[in-house]
Amino acid sequence: MAGVKIMISYSKRGYSIFKSIMKRLYWCPRCNIPLLQDKCSRCVKNKSVTLKVKITPPGDIRPALGRDYFKILDLLKEFLGEKWNNVIPIRNIILLNKIQHIDLADEIIIDGQVIGSRYYDIHSNKWKFRPSYPIVYQMIRKRIGYYAIVEMNFLKRRYEIHKNRIIEYNFPDIKGEYVAVSNHKRNFYGLGILERGKRVKIIKIWRKRPFSWLEKNPTWRDVVEGNLEYLKNIEDEAVRFIKETKEKYNLPVVVSFSGGKDSLATYLLVKKALGKVDLIFNDTGLELPETVNYVKIFAKDEGIRLIYADAGDNFWRSLNVMGPPARDYRWCCKIAKLSPISNSIKKNFPKGALNFVGQRKFESLSRALSPRIWRNKWMSNIIAASPINDWRFLDVWLYIIWKKARINPLYFRGFDRLGCWLCPASQLGELDEIKLEYKELWTKWEKYLKEFAKNKGFGEEWIKYGLWRWIHLPEKIKIYLSRFNIDSSRYDGIRRFGDINIKEDNNKIEVKIIDSLIPFSKERYETFMQTIDKNYKDFIRYDSEKDVFFINNNEQSSLFIKNLIRMMNCVGCGLCIVWCPTNAITIEDNMAVIDVNECISCKNCVKICPIAEYIFSNLS
Ligand SMILES: [Zn+2]
Repeated sequence: MAGVKIMISYSKRGYSIFKSIMKRLYWCPRCNIPLLQDKCSRCVKNKSVTLKVKITPPGDIRPALGRDYFKILDLLKEFLGEKWNNVIPIRNIILLNKIQHIDLADEIIIDGQVIGSRYYDIHSNKWKFRPSYPIVYQMIRKRIGYYAIVEMNFLKRRYEIHKNRIIEYNFPDIKGEYVAVSNHKRNFYGLGILERGKRVKIIKIWRKRPFSWLEKNPTWRDVVEGNLEYLKNIEDEAVRFIKETKEKYNLPVVVSFSGGKDSLATYLLVKKALGKVDLIFNDTGLELPETVNYVKIFAKDEGIRLIYADAGDNFWRSLNVMGPPARDYRWCCKIAKLSPISNSIKKNFPKGALNFVGQRKFESLSRALSPRIWRNKWMSNIIAASPINDWRFLDVWLYIIWKKARINPLYFRGFDRLGCWLCPASQLGELDEIKLEYKELWTKWEKYLKEFAKNKGFGEEWIKYGLWRWIHLPEKIKIYLSRFNIDSSRYDGIRRFGDINIKEDNNKIEVKIIDSLIPFSKERYETFMQTIDKNYKDFIRYDSEKDVFFINNNEQSSLFIKNLIRMMNCVGCGLCIVWCPTNAITIEDNMAVIDVNECISCKNCVKICPIAEYIFSNLS
């Protein structure tokens, strides 16, 4: 599907939020390096003029690294053919800027110019390239790649140019491909799509402007040098912030360390401000092996304590109960992240802590709105603070290179977003990379998805297009798939857990467990009845023959249903342990067991249980 309109705009509100945090990117034409401010530290004496680079907000510029770098070269080769190197110079520095699209998409920046964009086509599972002016201009000048010179006084968007007006051309065999276009006067340039009958439809135009590539081919070290003044300034500011925050709260300090670049920069800054401190790492059970190794080696090299929170196989056990997680059904975060981290912090910092984290505004809309210091939503005695709140990807990256710090090797394999490898928030382009590079991991996941799909009677497109990533499918996905005659509405809003049937009738409620995936054993029932006896016994009755609970409806009944869900489906994630004021809960055989004598009926454990919460809120 070349030629598909690739920009899908943000909501107006999203756009204005991102625009408000946007920072300009500059370029030094003399050194041919990106600049994070309007000044080149290498050219102080030469007073060279810097250029502004026009990029799409929010502009979280990042470097193309390792495999990703070579993938871009391959894409350009594929688009321009053998002589690609006559159109575009080979550079060490290629920058990427994420833009909105149905899946992954980036602007590609070389020599201070957006030369085009790439986007991941989820139908063909391939990257596609769409050229901008610099490439189109060179293609026409040098007659390289697919082009058309047309007999027209000017070009206009949405024009469909008839083949009679095309003076000179080189066309592919198939329609739908991008074609560089210029008129015979050579004062207009455009990007067209080849249509049926050798017609070309213009989708973008530019008036002629002079353009040439820059001369030098610098390295990342040169980029650091050119940005040295800027890097020193942001470091000073962050160090000052860390010292002031420590003074204000005076709590033991711990740095959240995910193995990614942001937490690495955060650690380096905290170390500079306060000396060596503890790291806390949460192993979700879904980390790539390189990350786990890297974190352990890093802590050892630094000679610091690594607090290792471990979700064990929480995620995989919960799958049986919950079904695959989705963007609008993210039980996984609570079970594989929140629970182990909270337990670990409660154990190690019972009196509270100051937790520095590498959270950045550019990462998401919600983070764009987050303050720099906040109280942990779940544990009020934990203060979280992000020293690099408004740093860009490139700020972080250059800072790390400047400090010559040890970096997670996954970045050089082209992974720029680490974390759980099957995260439903991933784009298909990222998941396909996992599929290629970590066959064993992916096979395990795919096998699970296939079985789940089979049970639900889902078609293969549910997996191919990654539809498991949503319970309620976004409109843009439905529209996109309808182009291939796929009716995705049949996957929309389908529950993923074993069903519960709730009949409400006057003031009586009947709850029947239809297909709880964990057997509703006598033991579970007894444990349940014991622990809630003093809270609910007056208004519920269990008919073991029909396997139905009869409840007198009152203000407690929804809490009771949550409690029931919890008891039926508890996977022993242990989140409730953190919030039990009397420490009455222990985990036995992957199930939370409450000591009735210690229980004070506060029902915190029911209110915060992620299993109960997600299942209850997804009941009809
Ligand atoms: Zn310079």
